[in-house]
Amino acid sequence: MFADPVPGLKMKSRAPKSEEIWKIATALERAYGSPRHGNPRNPLDDLIYIILSTRTRDPSFGRTFRRLKRRFPSWNAVLPGRKSEVQRILAPGGLSRLKARQIVSVLSRLRQRFGRATLAPLGRLPDLEAEAYLTSLPGVGPKIAKCVLMYALGRKVLPVDVHVHRVATRLGLKTKKRPDTSQALVERAVPLDLRYSFHVNAIAHGRSVCLSRGPLCDRCPISRWCEYYRCRRGPKRRG
Ligand code: SF4
Repeated sequence: MFADPVPGLKMKSRAPKSEEIWKIATALERAYGSPRHGNPRNPLDDLIYIILSTRTRDPSFGRTFRRLKRRFPSWNAVLPGRKSEVQRILAPGGLSRLKARQIVSVLSRLRQRFGRATLAPLGRLPDLEAEAYLTSLPGVGPKIAKCVLMYALGRKVLPVDVHVHRVATRLGLKTKKRPDTSQALVERAVPLDLRYSFHVNAIAHGRSVCLSRGPLCDRCPISRWCEYYRCRRGPKRRG
């Protein structure tokens, strides 16, 4: 059963075949060039960056991250007694109290576990163990864990956020109503070697063309494989 990306538009279950997924991923890669979306390469930097980016529409979280790094060049210096200082730095992005508490708690847990604030030891763990450790940290769910695994640890996983979920659903991939409940379905449908590019390019596509309301289908580089487009326009041959 497909999640319906647009109320009133009923889509049939015509999921792209695997060779079409390759074509879609190639067209997205050509259009967007696999941007990293600012994600740092150090796993702990990346985790903090992602915590700051969640539950905000404010694009300034990147600046907040850089301010935080300038004030605390080493995460080891972010001790529980510095929480209010962290909170002040986070204030412009909203939810500063919650996020400051989460960041301080995560760093305390890492110091307890590894003797210092680091996620480097995860590099030696298999995907599932590394993911299990990450999701054991305060406030870290499967999507954040998979982002750290993919962006900073080079693992072939596919985090499903709102943009990836919307694009995948409209293309006709099997999904459920929400990104979190669709995680395994979308990840399984995309071959290992395409997961990184599919994720980063679907985000770029969802932000600029495949908008939540009013997708700009006439300028879409993957419309020929899109179930939503086909249903709106009537049946057409696929390339
Ligand atoms: S054709 Fe439209 S709905 Fe389909 S992926 Fe492109 S922008 Fe999104």
